[in-house]
Amino acid sequence: AYAARMARPEEDGRDPGVILAVRDITEYRSLERAKTAFVSDLSHEIRTPLTTIQSAMGIVQSAGERLEPAERRALQLAEQELRRIRSMVEELLTLAQMDSQQYSLEIGPTNLEDVIREAVESIGAKAERFGITVETDFGAGEHTCPGDARKLYQVFLNLLDNAVKYSDPGAHVRVSVEEGENELSVRVSDTGLGIPEDDLPQLFERFYRVDKARSRASGGSGLGLSIVKEIVELHGGRVGVESELGAGSTFTVTLPRFPATRPADYAR
Ligand code: ADP
Repeated sequence: AYAARMARPEEDGRDPGVILAVRDITEYRSLERAKTAFVSDLSHEIRTPLTTIQSAMGIVQSAGERLEPAERRALQLAEQELRRIRSMVEELLTLAQMDSQQYSLEIGPTNLEDVIREAVESIGAKAERFGITVETDFGAGEHTCPGDARKLYQVFLNLLDNAVKYSDPGAHVRVSVEEGENELSVRVSDTGLGIPEDDLPQLFERFYRVDKARSRASGGSGLGLSIVKEIVELHGGRVGVESELGAGSTFTVTLPRFPATRPADYAR
């Protein structure tokens, strides 16, 4: 395999001639494949012992009453960390599948409202624990788009999870859907910590975290938003962010919708 690159014309319009750089990337590709396979195998291998640890902890937990307060706190901490490792392993596995092209969408008519309601429901207990309210505003229109419901659920769950994680008690999270002629836009807004302007361009990169201390305290891995972006782009959509430090953030997911007037054979 080869990668080629051509120089652009000079800015002042002068013709620079042609510079063609050709590089053999066969070795690079096979290294990339080996890396992806390694991450995938490792994640699979880690899953099994994690499940064993989880059941062992369940047994200790069932002795709840007999535990000292300090022991109970230690158990809680261990559980929290275990949950963090499990979600990191699942995220790594998802990314490895995406890289090895083993990740495909099962596209069907998807009611975004149902998908979002499910994600809001899943985040409900956590939001309540953090003292954060989540509200939805779907308007009146038709919110069906071609999509993979499971994967879009993951998108909104990740965005909602962040909105809750990076907000202080008393904050509000709002999810709304807006219809365009050819698109549906979902906005997930929070009145939380916000993101510094300088960090916004890199926010969707793998492992990127704004403030490592902030992220670690709330259990982040820096993978969630990169998964969001890849899933949305696989749907032919895009994702954007606006944020103000100390005031809150809004993430917008825009997805293509069914054309308003469908071709006859499409409607059948
Ligand atoms: P993480 O697992 O660390 O949450 P993400 O990829 O989901 O990773 O997010 C990347 C970084 O973006 C986070 O570490 C966090 O600093 C910042 N971030 C994401 N969502 C929000 C939000 N709603 N409010 C403030 N910061 C956010």
